[in-house]
Amino acid sequence: MLGDRVAESHGGGARRLGRRRRLRPTVPAAHDEGDDDEGGDDEGGENEGERSATHDAGQGTLGSMVREALRDGHERAIGDVRVSVTDRCNFRCQYCMPAEGLPWLERSEILTFEEITRLVGLLAEMGVSAVRLTGGEPLVRRELPRLVAMLDAVPGLDDLALTTNGYLLDRDAAALVAAGVKRFNVSIDSLQRDRFFAMTRRDALPRVLRGLEVLAAQRGPDGPPRIKVNAVALRGFTEEEALPFAAWARETGWEVRFIEWMPLDADHAWTADQVLPGEELRALINARWPLEPEAREPSATARTWRFADGARGRIGFVNPVSEPFCSDCDRIRLTADGRLRTCLFSLNETDLRGPLREGAEDDELEEVVRGAVWRKELKHRVGDPGFVQPARSMSAIGG
Ligand code: SAM
Ligand code: SF4
Repeated sequence: MLGDRVAESHGGGARRLGRRRRLRPTVPAAHDEGDDDEGGDDEGGENEGERSATHDAGQGTLGSMVREALRDGHERAIGDVRVSVTDRCNFRCQYCMPAEGLPWLERSEILTFEEITRLVGLLAEMGVSAVRLTGGEPLVRRELPRLVAMLDAVPGLDDLALTTNGYLLDRDAAALVAAGVKRFNVSIDSLQRDRFFAMTRRDALPRVLRGLEVLAAQRGPDGPPRIKVNAVALRGFTEEEALPFAAWARETGWEVRFIEWMPLDADHAWTADQVLPGEELRALINARWPLEPEAREPSATARTWRFADGARGRIGFVNPVSEPFCSDCDRIRLTADGRLRTCLFSLNETDLRGPLREGAEDDELEEVVRGAVWRKELKHRVGDPGFVQPARSMSAIGG
């Protein structure tokens, strides 16, 4: 099992471890920002040079615009878009990506900041109010804070969040908070350096923890950023992490969330028996520090629990495998190459980049988006006989 294998292999310690908006927000001139800066990936060859301006974001209509709310064919309103800004990553987490990486998208295939901002702006006119930037590792996309500032200027968006592995946070936290990111999810699978290395194939825990410290010290216009820590739960590995993470949540006041492993790994190694259900982890923590459930926010991915003794912090469980939460899912996804996905497990995706670069008007793009969203899957089929894993893996979709 992956968890056992990873847990066993950690003994070597730190080796090399090796709704309403002006259609065109004011944005800087359309010079291109498409570089990825792997920042710390020492395999070389992936840290490419400047890229010259190529794409125009296309023509839109000037002025304010309110469009009909975006709904799917099951009467669910769409309020949240996950935007992948790159498929590249400087980690190689065992449950996500092979050691050698994946065939990366060409730069010209990746949406420019202007293109992303235009599409997000259109979605905001249709009632999408929350954006989460992700990847791949979003911080390897050069000038990411500039994209954040552009999105922060989009009327109608009230929640700008980011999911990161934290490796480049010590460099970027201040700029990201200043540009408008309000909520950060930082992924950490173990609080022990050797086990962190075994899982991510990078000896990076000290640096990630330093990045978190830098992040926690920031103050944005609305106060300190909200921080959550994500840990993927794997049988044979994460049981040992449960109490240290709970103790850390109590110490820091942050929410630590355990996410059930989903069949979205590029290696196709996922099997149901390797999923460590959130309920098992909850029982482990509850036996040491009793937990009380909190009310579930509509469309939330996590069920959260506070400590009954009043300690700070909370524990969240994202249980897509054992307790699917599809019925009120309000999320859609935009891949780095401009495909709209209506579910993590979609077998079909809809190209928005093509029409965008061919000069489609906003009304035309709206029609394409509405058609795709109308067909949003009722639920995922993980665990059903005949389940088919999507061709793209998590890092290529944008988790
Ligand atoms: N690279 C960033 C990171 O790791 O935070 C952002 C992208 S990553 C795909 C987003 C989240 O998905 C991370 O918390 C990661 O641990 C999680 N993840 C990746 N593969 C997964 C899988 N197969 N099942 C469940 N979660 C997964
Ligand atoms: Fe990279 Fe995130 Fe996938 Fe890990 S989970 S390999 S950090 S994209």
